[in-house]
Amino acid sequence: MKHSWVTGARAPDCDFSLANLPYGVFSTGGRGPRCGVAIGNCVLDLAELAAAGLLPGADLGFDQPALNRFMAAGADTWANVRSRLTDLLAEGGDPALRENAALRERALISLDKARMHLPVDVKGYTDFYAGRQHAFNSGSILRGPENALTPNWTHMPIGYNGRASTVVVSGTPVRRPLGQVMGADGPKFGPSQRLDIEVEFGAIVALPTELGQTLTVAEAWDHLFGFVLLNDWSARDIQRWEGQPLGPFQSKAFATSISPWVVTRAALEQCRRPGPKRDNDLLPYLQEEADYFLDVKLEAHLAPEGAAEASRIVQTNTAYLYYSAPQLLAHHAVCGCRMQTGDLLGSGTISGPERQNFGCLMEQSWGGRDEVALEHGGSRIFLQDGDSVTLTGWGEVDGQRIGFGRCEGRILPAPTQVGKAF
Ligand code: CA
Repeated sequence: MKHSWVTGARAPDCDFSLANLPYGVFSTGGRGPRCGVAIGNCVLDLAELAAAGLLPGADLGFDQPALNRFMAAGADTWANVRSRLTDLLAEGGDPALRENAALRERALISLDKARMHLPVDVKGYTDFYAGRQHAFNSGSILRGPENALTPNWTHMPIGYNGRASTVVVSGTPVRRPLGQVMGADGPKFGPSQRLDIEVEFGAIVALPTELGQTLTVAEAWDHLFGFVLLNDWSARDIQRWEGQPLGPFQSKAFATSISPWVVTRAALEQCRRPGPKRDNDLLPYLQEEADYFLDVKLEAHLAPEGAAEASRIVQTNTAYLYYSAPQLLAHHAVCGCRMQTGDLLGSGTISGPERQNFGCLMEQSWGGRDEVALEHGGSRIFLQDGDSVTLTGWGEVDGQRIGFGRCEGRILPAPTQVGKAF
């Protein structure tokens, strides 16, 4: 296994090993957003590398504030760039960057000096409900275990169209939403009292489809560029009242946080796993002929305001999903829906079998019934103002981490009145 010569890349807990090379968009003090790759403790400036003539192919838009142009260029281009970057960053590889001090100075920037931005121009955001344990737990809380899964659930991925406009990058504060909820004496209005996280995995669509075009599951896999951590902030009290009959609306529309780094399919190739045992055969358009599930560990940590240490509240794994990312995309496109470069598909909350594997507080507190103890003191049923929640996630290949960095958001108090100047 090759390693990188860049500082920090060999550390066993470093997310950004040579095997990873995730893409993001960053800015520095004097210069606006452009594309980069995380390696060790640094971000490699791809605009600088392209300007120095060290990257293959035509202009890939690395000086742009989004990865969309590069993603639209297709799989051959992605493979060529990945191969070139691996050669430039590997110990014993091409010395063009390693032995050029001036270029290293310009192009390798310490991560703590980089400000991260949304990595893609998100065109559409669709959120699914593809985690079986989460669907079972949520259904059990609402309807009892015997009716937990709706009859359609084991036959197709259930989803809804979310808001691309409120997808935000890690570090963006999340304001507690105002909304309408059902109280003991009828509908009432105010700040959500049941603000929650949802630990999810996001897939980024790279190749578009035409209106009316459909995709097989295998084709859908080829249309995906990579994956991000995703926290689908949720207001459970608003959701409970508004959700019938059309599903979530305002309860999910105020913020969805994603990690700044997009980990590519290529990096996760060795983390692929077979799908779950199924209750029933899927219809042919959803059947998969290869392993499209991934072994990526996911965690969530909660830090109350002023806390010295964050408490781990969730440990789960993308392998707990019932539908894979290409199944979500194939199902989405099969009606003829036009998919766009930069579409984001959320998996839905990913929960495992035990309470510490449950991917949201609603499940961990069993609908608000139980206090969830925090390992470093205190407890929660739902989120309080000032709480900060951080998702992390990583696959592993030959001892090197294929990590996603952090997906963090801190809860700000709700607005004090409607319509007041922002
Ligand atoms: Ca969700």
